[in-house]
Amino acid sequence: RAKKLGKNNYQIFSDSIDISSYKQLALENDMRKALEQNQFELYYQPQVNMEGRIHSAEALVRWNHPDWGTVSPGEFIPLAEENHLIHDLTSWVIEEVCSQLKKWKTMEKPVKPIAINVSPLCLMRNGFIEKIKQILADYEISAHLIQLEITENTLLKDNEKIQSNLKMLKQLGLAIAIDDFGTGYSSLKYIHDFQVDILKLDKLFLKELAHDNEKDKAIVSSVIHLAKGLNIKIIAEGVERYEQYQFLKQKDCDLIQGFLFSKPVPLETWEEMMETGYLKPKKKMYMPRRKE
Ligand code: C2E
Ligand code: MG
Ligand code: MG
Ligand code: MG
Repeated sequence: RAKKLGKNNYQIFSDSIDISSYKQLALENDMRKALEQNQFELYYQPQVNMEGRIHSAEALVRWNHPDWGTVSPGEFIPLAEENHLIHDLTSWVIEEVCSQLKKWKTMEKPVKPIAINVSPLCLMRNGFIEKIKQILADYEISAHLIQLEITENTLLKDNEKIQSNLKMLKQLGLAIAIDDFGTGYSSLKYIHDFQVDILKLDKLFLKELAHDNEKDKAIVSSVIHLAKGLNIKIIAEGVERYEQYQFLKQKDCDLIQGFLFSKPVPLETWEEMMETGYLKPKKKMYMPRRKE
């Protein structure tokens, strides 16, 4: 059947067979039910300053699937984007975060800002801003407790709706963070013009720091330096090794998010962490270089 589509289409067709593995089909089918049955769960990964003081956390969604076990967002977010459930899923994430923030406030617990990942599809959608406004109002949450993470390429999309929605979100008081910075094509000038609040330096750049890669060291230190000059907060993502942390500290990076301080943790663990207020880097031990 594929062959009938002709040579060029055949390529597209076989790609789509490739994507539609059995698991993916199953996940796509089960997603709606999963939302209704509360199978999604938020994990929280702390963002700490150079002294290990907890500043905030990123909310990362997990799917506790009855048959497939814990499914990572890398597997199901692209599917949710395809079948449009990303909108309901994102609303669920925002509402879950706000409901926890409200709970912590009511219990007079220390409340830390939470970062939420937002797909460009959500930013393009009519009613997205209203939805956020409504959730913030329902839970009486101040917008400054929410950081929205978008990828560089979202910012670059030549889409009026995205541009105006981002402006409105900023006006509402939400912070905008650029996720995986350095993997796309945006310039710091563009990021400055857009008044982005936070840059999250992609873990790719951190990888070689521990091995004295001079080029990566130069990139990281100049990005930190430029961001500071533009008054943009900088978070280093994917910090796994003590040497990376030492380098970032020496370069006066603002915040760190990575396994060295903590993996993403379930709600109860995050609550304990907030209570303590700070984390220590894992032991200064030799960690064998991972095979790539
Ligand atoms: P991201 O936003 O860049 O999130 C960071 C990812 O890096 C997380 O993977 C986190 O577990 C991982 N990570 C953090 N520290 C380290 C480290 O030291 N070493 C290594 N190797 N990895 C580290 P996770 O949780 O699997 O999430 C993957 C991606 O899925 C996220 O990348 C984000 O783009 C997306 N995602 C997660 N939750 C949501 C959500 O609620 N909505 C949307 N739209 N996307 C989400
Ligand atoms: Mg993120
Ligand atoms: Mg990232
Ligand atoms: Mg990523």
